[in-house]
Amino acid sequence: MTVPFYDFPQLHNETFRIELLERYDQILKDNSFIEGQYNALFEKEFAKLQQAKHCCLVANGTDALEISLKAYGIQPGDLVGVPAISYFASAEAIINVGANVVFIDINPVTGLICPESTQRILQQYDLKAIIPVHIYGLPVDLEAITPLCQAKNVAIVEDGAQAAGATLSTGPVGSSPNLTTFSFYPTKNLGALGDAGAILTTDDDLAETIKLLRNHGRLPSGHQLIGRNSRCDHFQAAALHLKLEKYLAYNKIRQELARYYWKHLQNLPLGLLPKKYLETSAWHLFPLALADEIEKTRLQTFLKQKGIGTAPFYELAMSQEKPLQDCPGENQKAHEFAGTRLCLPLHPHLSASQMEEVIQEVRNFFS
Ligand SMILES: *Cc1c(COP(=O)(O)O)cnc(C)c1O
Repeated sequence: MTVPFYDFPQLHNETFRIELLERYDQILKDNSFIEGQYNALFEKEFAKLQQAKHCCLVANGTDALEISLKAYGIQPGDLVGVPAISYFASAEAIINVGANVVFIDINPVTGLICPESTQRILQQYDLKAIIPVHIYGLPVDLEAITPLCQAKNVAIVEDGAQAAGATLSTGPVGSSPNLTTFSFYPTKNLGALGDAGAILTTDDDLAETIKLLRNHGRLPSGHQLIGRNSRCDHFQAAALHLKLEKYLAYNKIRQELARYYWKHLQNLPLGLLPKKYLETSAWHLFPLALADEIEKTRLQTFLKQKGIGTAPFYELAMSQEKPLQDCPGENQKAHEFAGTRLCLPLHPHLSASQMEEVIQEVRNFFS
């Protein structure tokens, strides 16, 4: 039996395709390619689901980070903190607004930003903002981070690219007073059929600035500021809006599957994410912690031979990537973490027999 890492054939099944093509046909007939009705509908409904006041669609998740930093007034030369474990874009966005990256170390179990390291970095560097990342779908402990940032007037941009469906102690990711960014890259929990992203906010003024920044600073009365083009096209918005129908149900299935994996893998000689996250993670990924890189690669190869797809997120800390190697900060735990995780298939179309197969083969590996 093969167990693919992604579920695109089932996600984009016949029913989905028929409904989508109807929408696409209408868009073609209306010539409403850019800011169409589905952009407005998606923004309204996604903001409501995430308990944010505003959702601003943009072209992708990396732009969402860049535009958020700009909306907070981050200037060239400013210092912005980011955990050393994330997808490359979390740091890249900082550099692309002309600011400088300062790395913050991680919790060695979860890969999430470490509050103690954050505190030390805030004492040592004059940061203007930090970007905590809800990595793997796990919610960052904002209670620990927020007071540290408030004391120094440091803005927070939450990178929620992997966390559509995760829950903070105060509500869904996106509902906090911070700007929260999402990516709708096709492999994310909520994926477009190409690139798209969004910024969620509870602040009217920030939402207005973001909407100007994404569309050349443009108002009917004239251009108000130097922005850029980061519009989300109508085709992507139509697909995203259609996928919203199943968004909550799919996230629930992810949680149930994660619980099942957790239960049946917990007695093996490998590390799992702490049990408390069974309730709150979006379960974008289900990483196993292996003893070292060698064991990780052996397990990956073993499962591949059995037809089971896995993903080794992350093989390098961002601070180990060539263009970011000289950035200051803390990264020791991140470097130990990198290369030791292997993510199992976890998507809403995983069947019971596929799950059994994955569990059995992981057991076989260790026996
Ligand atoms: C996917 C991802 C991004 C980038 O999103 P794009 O839409 O590909 O630009 C940023 N941060 C994290 C944590 C991601 O997983």
